[in-house]
Amino acid sequence: MRLIFLGPPGAGKGTQAAVVSDKLKIPAISTGDILRESVKSNSPIGLKAKSYMEKGELVPDEIVAGIVADRIKKGDALCGFILDGFPRTINQADKLKEQLDKQSIKIDLVIYFETSEPVIISRLSGRRICKNCSANYHVKNIPPKVQGVCDKCGGELYQRVDDKENTIKNRIEVYKKQTASLIDYYKQKGSLRTISGDLDVKEAYKVLTAMFKKEKLL
Ligand code: AMP
Repeated sequence: MRLIFLGPPGAGKGTQAAVVSDKLKIPAISTGDILRESVKSNSPIGLKAKSYMEKGELVPDEIVAGIVADRIKKGDALCGFILDGFPRTINQADKLKEQLDKQSIKIDLVIYFETSEPVIISRLSGRRICKNCSANYHVKNIPPKVQGVCDKCGGELYQRVDDKENTIKNRIEVYKKQTASLIDYYKQKGSLRTISGDLDVKEAYKVLTAMFKKEKLL
């Protein structure tokens, strides 16, 4: 199954991508995670991406499209994948289509997580990430068993620089200006399905599973 999770930051795409990835044994490919790893390791891509990410701006299309093209060719993605946070512009969507055509594959569904602004803000400001394995937590909604420590690997939890209040506002604006047009783009192609991003983790997963069954993907 090949899926795109589309929606504003804080819509729960990453959390659902991790759950679906685990259950269906297909990789969740998060361009944000890959870029954060690149920044951490000071790789050439990381050095280029860092300043955009800190401001909540989009990293140039050629960089992210290249990352995704390389990643979806890897062995573990050959039978399916979930793209989380990519594409984020029409140009990225066109580049993705070119790449998929080259591999003679197609996206089965684009799932749009429609999310209200207060939910986005509360999710992002309370979000905590594991420094080691990138697992997502939330101080209220998904607290770790021990405060500040990852349940999965024992790594230290931290707040992303771009989850601070001013940057959150900018990321929402960037989403509205540069990414929201993808909703119509995929609607016209007939592959868009909508889920409420305001649901909690378990409810959202139930709705997604029902959707996959209805589409005969499960
Ligand atoms: P995310 O973890 O998806 O919220 O992404 C964090 C940051 O990484 C974004 O604010 C952008 O700076 C950058 N980023 C992630 N994915 C993309 C993308 N598809 N296009 C451009 N920039 C991206």
